[in-house]
Amino acid sequence: MELRGIGASDGIGIGAVVCVRTQDLDYSHVPYQGASREKARLRQATAEFTARIQAMVEQVTARVGEKESEILSGQITMLTDPYMIAQMEEAIDGGSCAEGAVDAVCRMFMEVFSCADDELMRQRAADVGDIRTRMLSILLRVQQADLSALPDGTVLAARDLTPSMTVGLDRSHVAAILTETGGRTSHCAILARALEVPAVLSVPGLLDAVRDGMPAIVDGDAGLVILNPAPAQLEEYRARQTAWLRERELLQRYRDRATLTADGRQVSLYANIGSVSDARAAVQAGAEGIGLFRTEFLFMDRPAPPGEEEQYETYRQVARLMAGREVIIRTLDVGGDKGIPYLDMGQEENPFLGHRAIRYCLDHPDLFKTQLRALLRAGAEDGNLKIMLPLVTGVEEVRAARALLEECRTELQAEGKACAGHIPLGVMIETPASALIADLLARESDFFSIGTNDLTQYTVAVDRGNARVAGLYTTFHPAVLRSIRQVIAAGRAAGIPVGMCGESAADPALIPLLLAFGLDEFSVSPASVLSTRKHIAGWTRPAAEQAARDAMSLPTAAQVEACLRTTQAH
Ligand code: PEP
Ligand code: MG
Repeated sequence: MELRGIGASDGIGIGAVVCVRTQDLDYSHVPYQGASREKARLRQATAEFTARIQAMVEQVTARVGEKESEILSGQITMLTDPYMIAQMEEAIDGGSCAEGAVDAVCRMFMEVFSCADDELMRQRAADVGDIRTRMLSILLRVQQADLSALPDGTVLAARDLTPSMTVGLDRSHVAAILTETGGRTSHCAILARALEVPAVLSVPGLLDAVRDGMPAIVDGDAGLVILNPAPAQLEEYRARQTAWLRERELLQRYRDRATLTADGRQVSLYANIGSVSDARAAVQAGAEGIGLFRTEFLFMDRPAPPGEEEQYETYRQVARLMAGREVIIRTLDVGGDKGIPYLDMGQEENPFLGHRAIRYCLDHPDLFKTQLRALLRAGAEDGNLKIMLPLVTGVEEVRAARALLEECRTELQAEGKACAGHIPLGVMIETPASALIADLLARESDFFSIGTNDLTQYTVAVDRGNARVAGLYTTFHPAVLRSIRQVIAAGRAAGIPVGMCGESAADPALIPLLLAFGLDEFSVSPASVLSTRKHIAGWTRPAAEQAARDAMSLPTAAQVEACLRTTQAH
């Protein structure tokens, strides 16, 4: 039997199903013992919750990483929030036992969060659900499923795996994770990827279909689950699993190497990050620098923007982690599909063509200057920090940003604060306008980085998030490839470095083309660093140039892609 869901963590897992069924948390038999006794029970349970989660936070920080443990410590902050506690005590004053108070207040918060437009806010509903289950288990003295002692080769199947359940997992026993809920950005997916356990989420009817001990194959790339597989299927997937594990292992050989083509040309291989813990992952993955720090993530999922001090600390931490390697920090790229509720950006008919990124920042100089000041201060400590402007369409935007940067420098100097003497200011080339005037922009910029995610959507006029036109969204379109070639040539002619931080930088089929055009720096997600280094190592200049000539002579995206996908490195 085959089931399909969302492939949330890559790889092949083969094993036997262990179902995690939710415990009975019925409290209808619990008597009300008066307000002061119930409040004391609530306090005691809160203290126990905090102690248990704190212990997990330490475990997870050591085993998985800080970002993952932040999910858990966030739950302590939520539960001990004075407003949440006051609501629970009010329910107790109204005659609820501690269990009833926890249940009612958590359900109310879950309802509020699950209606939010923002994915991250909706994720909060899962956190509150987790708090509810854990608090009720503590109050009712019900043991929660123990996932730290699972048999080898476990394929975990659950309706939902809450953050506190997932972090207790011993990855050496878990072959795969399956759930009925959650998407690629759910906490469960983030943790599964951090643990490198294959996962398929949002599998409809999962718990009705599986039984404990049932043999299962999980294909995390394809989002496929095969229950009771036939011997031939088992054999096929065992072979695929072995190949996948071998490939992963072999890639480790590229970890501490320079990024060189087969005939010895060195290029830079950087990582794209969105947080300090991503920077840690980038170092671990063997990245030589940071080619794109998406700072908008610092502004999301909070009620107000981060102040200068907080931003300064974050940029400084990333720079320190990178220990002298180059760090390119992109200024706030808000708008389009990246809404930030408190910035009150209003409704726009065409947000992708609207008041976003550099446009918004230049129109909100206070917000922009706070970020520029933080960057200048962080740059004082680390000479390798660079600033990059998103969605530039004209030279005037670069001039205006540079003027504001100088204004910030003068202010900081007058305040006696240390700031970077010279800090390179670069432009992201992600609009047809900037690609066409790359020669003019190159005179006023210290570097370029090509953002193919947006450059493709604007060049071929296809919304990158619209499933109905997804078939038309392709970087292999000759128009996009000509743009890329022209931008790299303009950068080279002006003597400034050109990088690429869009997803295409990690596409093996495009690597020969980018090498032939003369790209200086590839910036990819930390998970793609080693495979990109390996692919680059497979090409010589003559072979890459031949592949580029062949591909660039073809008239359609489909032909170009087919040509590049079948061209072998040699
Ligand atoms: C891009 O547009 O290619 C890019 C890297 O930026 P983002 O994906 O953040 O829009
Ligand atoms: Mg972009």
